[in-house]
Amino acid sequence: MKRSFLGALLCVLSLVGMHTYAQAPADGSVQEKPVPITVTEVAPGLFFQYHHQESNNAWLVTDEGVLVIDSRQHPKRAEELLAAIRKTTDKPIRYVINTHAHGDHYFGNAVFRREGAVFLAHRDTAVMMKTHHGVEMKRRQGYFKQQKFDPAEVRLILPDVTYDEKLTGTLGGRVFELIYLGAGQNPGDTLVYFPKERVLFSGGPFSKNSWPNPQFTPSMSNWVSMLRQMAAMNVDKYLGGHGDIGARQDVLNEAQMLSDFDAGMRAAVKKSMSREEIYKSAPFAKYKDVRNYYRMNLFINSYHHFLTTGKPEVAMP
Ligand SMILES: [Zn+2]
Repeated sequence: MKRSFLGALLCVLSLVGMHTYAQAPADGSVQEKPVPITVTEVAPGLFFQYHHQESNNAWLVTDEGVLVIDSRQHPKRAEELLAAIRKTTDKPIRYVINTHAHGDHYFGNAVFRREGAVFLAHRDTAVMMKTHHGVEMKRRQGYFKQQKFDPAEVRLILPDVTYDEKLTGTLGGRVFELIYLGAGQNPGDTLVYFPKERVLFSGGPFSKNSWPNPQFTPSMSNWVSMLRQMAAMNVDKYLGGHGDIGARQDVLNEAQMLSDFDAGMRAAVKKSMSREEIYKSAPFAKYKDVRNYYRMNLFINSYHHFLTTGKPEVAMP
């Protein structure tokens, strides 16, 4: 089914000469012009690393140690993250938060385990890390090959502490909150809120000016609602798992884009349009300048699956 769709798609694309669409990689590998990695101190002692090609991180430096958010896509990348942290502090790494169960946010965990960190995540993220690790490894083989990284170096390190709705922690007198507003991009999507600093890190649900992968969401409407709740929070800086530092309007823009995607796809499915017909009619061309639009064939495919079966393409068991 999938194969014939892709075959038909390639055929259509070669006819109209939109060859870039046919290159959409399903395996997590990225084909883009390099953008330099930057580290910004978004509040005193709170650092944000923006890595356009892969995934972002944040870390909070306190007198009692360091809290790190997400661990990157391979232990080699985690070592680079640790080196970046070491340019800002020599304090021990106390905590690592895994915001969601995608390999580009937890495959580097082993490096921070070695450093003695305690791992925190939502209960559903912990379940997904356990049950979907094989799927995650599989869909990132293209990336490993591209980077010449050995997949065998990735070790599954599961969270030590999980939470259901909210977990408030302090480190060196600084407060951080892990907040769960239900599934957004993924079951278990953790938002990390620094109330005093008015900064929110959102791993999966928010990425500035970027199409997120809808393959995992069990509820697009909850995702949109989550983004609107985030926009209503007492926050000045929104740090996404991907993309650069965002403002409130960027969060609202994504909510609108996903809401349009949801409505457009529902209308098309109601008219019994096939995936090919939806793709050909380009109903989301308005958002063609948003990053990852070139993967629209995959997004339509995934969400069509969801709307016709009632289950995400990659579902939590
Ligand atoms: Zn990611």
